[in-house]
Amino acid sequence: MSSPENRQYPELHAHLLPLLKEMIRNTCVNTGDPDSGFEYRSAETLKTFFTARGIPSEILACREGRSNLLVRIPGTRKGAPSLMYMGHMDVVPARKEDWSCDPFEAALIEDAQAGPVLNGRGTVDMLNMTASMAAGLAEAVENHGPFPGDLCFLAVADEEASGTYGAKWLTDDHWEKVSADYMIAELGGFFVESRRGRSPTITLGEKGIAWLRISVKGRPGHGSMPYRSGNSAARLAELIVRLGDSLGRPVMHPMYRTMAGGFAASRWEEFLLTNPNTFRAGLSRVWGRSKGAAKFLHTAACTSVSPNVVRSGDKINVIPDRAMVELDVRLLPGQQVQDVACHIRSLAARMGIEVDILELEFFPSTVSPVDTPLMDAINEERKQEPGSLVPMMIGGVTDGRFWRQKGTVVYGYAPFSQEMTMNRYASMIHGIDESISLASLDRHLRFFSQLPGLFFQRV
Ligand SMILES: [Zn+2]
Repeated sequence: MSSPENRQYPELHAHLLPLLKEMIRNTCVNTGDPDSGFEYRSAETLKTFFTARGIPSEILACREGRSNLLVRIPGTRKGAPSLMYMGHMDVVPARKEDWSCDPFEAALIEDAQAGPVLNGRGTVDMLNMTASMAAGLAEAVENHGPFPGDLCFLAVADEEASGTYGAKWLTDDHWEKVSADYMIAELGGFFVESRRGRSPTITLGEKGIAWLRISVKGRPGHGSMPYRSGNSAARLAELIVRLGDSLGRPVMHPMYRTMAGGFAASRWEEFLLTNPNTFRAGLSRVWGRSKGAAKFLHTAACTSVSPNVVRSGDKINVIPDRAMVELDVRLLPGQQVQDVACHIRSLAARMGIEVDILELEFFPSTVSPVDTPLMDAINEERKQEPGSLVPMMIGGVTDGRFWRQKGTVVYGYAPFSQEMTMNRYASMIHGIDESISLASLDRHLRFFSQLPGLFFQRV
């Protein structure tokens, strides 16, 4: 116990690090198979952690092995709003041979950029947060409680698939147990470089999902005579290109404008990014200095269309009479799946193409307001730090959407230390050699232990 890191971060070594290491070693790998995940292991780890600190918790499961764990500490004032920390316990697979350390060993190593780091699958997505939330909540209760409203912690299963055994089931079937007025969940707290310096991000909203299967009909024929054959594969390719151009035009919605303001390196760049006619030019400038930032901005402004599964024909000399594409469309606030289907139908009709559209999955975009007591409390907690929070709308989905859709204010945020830039974060999430610095973990812990006091003062 006398290494320099131990002396530097005594609280981490006493509470948070042992908990996080055990959660990494529990290997709760979610492959998408209903029998994977094994989140019951980390639910038990967390239950033991809370029991040792005198905090009751409840395990909820709709399938054996896929446990969720809930802590709800009742508030002292009737009608006061509740605050919940929500994190997932599952991680995506990792292959030992690709990593420099065993991804499920939870080794402490030295990183040239970040100093001492904990290496392992889930150290960024998102066992770092789930463990810090648990340790922070325990500290908050001990040092600052009781609070007027309910203070809750929820660790869920199955985020890395679709939340069937976790967030979706809990919000559909156990809303009375897992409801909350305000929530901190995943994705945010890493830094972007902007004209205001290095600023931390916070996620306020997520795009929606419209997954569609589109089939195009043609006529079969001999591959040696394609003249006016109406080859279904060629027609589908044309349709896909035109769809990307027409659906993917930028929309300068309020959430995007705020985000562009926070990402821009100059006023001029902000001007370019927030005008539909100069948007592409602005985006190219951003791409030049940060590919990650350009991708985030593009998806926040545009309905994105990604043709990810394409099939047609099975013989090289036969013109295919059917072609199919599965499109991953991500929706902007207010867009419905019907809007997209209508657009595709009318475009196809104008091109003289007959299409069938099958809706595979739909979830609308969800956005939380910026002006809330939770945002005030977060700003208060970080008032000594440089830069101001940059709000984001992300293209991917997290479990936070299930609560946002029911009216909960959900922010994705856990402050990292300065080394966690957007590019470093993007390279680690679902990547190899995922790791978190002890400085970042220390920052997480301080945030989650201070936030309840600051939030409940304001409500
Ligand atoms: Zn995650």
